[in-house]
Amino acid sequence: MTVKYIDQIDIKNKRVIIRVDYNVPYNSSMEITDDTRIRSTLRTINYCVKMRSKIILISHLGRPKGKIVPEMTLKPAAQRLSRIIKKEVRFFNDEIGEGLQNKIDRLNPGDICLLENIRFYPGEEKNDDDLGKKLASLADVYINDAFAAAHRGHASNDAITKFIKTSCAGFLLKDEIEFFKKALENPEKPLGAVIGGAKVSTKLNVLENILNKVDYIIIGGAMAFTFLKSKGYDTGKSLIEEDLITSAGEILHKASKKNIPVYLPVDIVAASEFKNESPAKVVPVENIPKDMIGLDIGPETINLFSEKIKNSKTVIWNGPMGAFEMPRFAEGTNELAKTIAGSRCLSIVGGGDSVTAINQLGIADKISYISTGGGAFLELLEGKKLPAIKALER
Ligand code: AMP
Repeated sequence: MTVKYIDQIDIKNKRVIIRVDYNVPYNSSMEITDDTRIRSTLRTINYCVKMRSKIILISHLGRPKGKIVPEMTLKPAAQRLSRIIKKEVRFFNDEIGEGLQNKIDRLNPGDICLLENIRFYPGEEKNDDDLGKKLASLADVYINDAFAAAHRGHASNDAITKFIKTSCAGFLLKDEIEFFKKALENPEKPLGAVIGGAKVSTKLNVLENILNKVDYIIIGGAMAFTFLKSKGYDTGKSLIEEDLITSAGEILHKASKKNIPVYLPVDIVAASEFKNESPAKVVPVENIPKDMIGLDIGPETINLFSEKIKNSKTVIWNGPMGAFEMPRFAEGTNELAKTIAGSRCLSIVGGGDSVTAINQLGIADKISYISTGGGAFLELLEGKKLPAIKALER
């Protein structure tokens, strides 16, 4: 079975329930500080408005653990959506039942309402059938547009699909699925993966899986030091995971047996302390001083990695090349981001930090696709089938 998409389904004048991901960041005054996730659902919602559907939005926010936590209300998200979409968005915080059903029945075609945080119900995270059934009873068609939550099998993205006749993916989820397929299942070659970040442990399964798909792998960030250590280099005080040195060595061994080059840093920016103001210098990886920490890739490495990227047709990027939150150690990440944006390849970027770097540089429009999922993106890279996508295939 394959997932049906919203544009393959008749939703005209129907009641549609759309699972969105409005788990957006707030400041201490309860103001939304980044509404990207709300904006990314506009295409689906506007399409439903055009089709004169009655639109019921559901989302989670934070981790209220099945209890009503007033600070985790979705009301500000309803207000923000209303402002962006230039249309009234009703906010219904009634419990799911007859009263809510009546309110929904009174909506006019094209009207939008957002329900209260679905994680206020203990059944949500338990993927409870009763909650799924209740949610399903509110509408005729279920649309999932919450990719960032797709790696969790919960009542609002899994159980609900058992009780509603028609389920499909919205435009955001469709893009996530289709771009991912283009990049990993049917890519234009050469296909490269640029993997960075702090820990090998969180990316080990990703590396294992992509070894079977890509033409080369670039490894940067702190995780590169565990790989360098497995090759016998002295990595000074750089962050390494002792217990994963052997696994890192095994990955390199497997890659070499498959003739897949793995490019590691050849020089790094080493600092005396984990501080932006710390004295720092560029050193080759053969000469990392014992008392220094590697916090970014060096200029020769930037050239090496950039050259590989420029010669690719498809590039997937997840994870920063250094401790990029400190401007002094952001150059490697920024330069690679610019190279990816400037190249003609199909580029897919996922994961909070890489996306932050791209946004800070103002080059998001030059990336073919920026995934809205962190954990979900990594699990796709691991080759896993996401529970919410499995549910749509059912
Ligand atoms: P991850 O969540 O595993 O993708 O890791 C992202 C984090 O890795 C960011 O906060 C970076 O600051 C951090 N990071 C990347 N490179 C280094 C490095 N060389 N040393 C310490 N932290 C790093």
